[in-house]
Parts: sequence; structure tokens; C-alpha cells
Amino acid sequence: MAYRQIRIDGDEVLRKKSRQVEKIDEKILTLIEDMADTMYKADGVGLAAPQIGILKRVVTIDVGEGLIGMINPVILEQRGEQDGPEGCLSLPGTTGDVKRPMYVKAKYTNPAGETVIVEAEELFARCICHELDHLDGVLYKDRAHKMYTQDELDNMKQ
Ligand SMILES: [Zn+2]
Repeated sequence: MAYRQIRIDGDEVLRKKSRQVEKIDEKILTLIEDMADTMYKADGVGLAAPQIGILKRVVTIDVGEGLIGMINPVILEQRGEQDGPEGCLSLPGTTGDVKRPMYVKAKYTNPAGETVIVEAEELFARCICHELDHLDGVLYKDRAHKMYTQDELDNMKQ
């Protein structure tokens, strides 16, 4: 188990494009383990490698159905629309409304080296879009049509 430091908005690594993983070696497997540990510790549902300063196309996701480690993920199809609040471990204390597809079909390589096709809806679909954006240096605030102030968030919690 190893926790890595989560990079915060303003860190230029979050704005860079990540590189394809050419080979799944010990280093990549350790990266995925560390990302999972870091994600769970921070109470997140997803984490992308650039968020811990590694510019590789790797994300971890757990929306409550178990851990998924995605290597070189790509979105193949998307449909519909959902509009709702989103946050990010790299933008602590912020929330914004982002429109995302309701359904996403994605392809990735799992840690065992197998190609996996996944169909995702609702939160899972939102999460895939959000994490894949990180691999291209995009943050959710770039796509948000409304960002909430801390006052507004406090009011919503009441
Ligand atoms: Zn994020």
C-alpha cells in the first residue's frame, strides 16, 4: 500500500496530455495499486494518473461496484445526456454542474492485459468521461456550466 500526493489545480501536470501505456509491467501494476489506495483514502470514485503526477493513460474507478483499473481507455460510443454536480480530488471544495452523456461504451486494457468493453450509465458514465478528460489535460471546471460558491454549497447541505 502506498499513497501518493494528489496534485491540485494550478499544478501544470494536470494540463498535460498523458501518453499511451506501451507495456504492462510491474511499474504500471504498482501505479494502479497506488492509485487505488490514494483514491480510496481520499474518498474518491475515480482517479487519473496525472492527478498523482504521472502522465500515463491509466485511471482507476470505483462507483460502488468494485475497483476497475483502466489502461489506455477510449470512449467508443456515447448517447443521451445527464446534467448534474461534479467534483474532483484535484479541485477540493469545489462543485459544478456538468453535462455528460447518460450512456458511454468504452474500451480499455485491464491489468491482466485483456481488452475489455464496458457499457456504463449514469454515475459510472459520468466518471469515465471525467477521468478520461484528465488524460487530455481537461478539468471538469472547463466544462461546467455552473460553478457553486462555498456559500451556495453550504446552503444546499442544510
Ligand atoms: Zn478529477
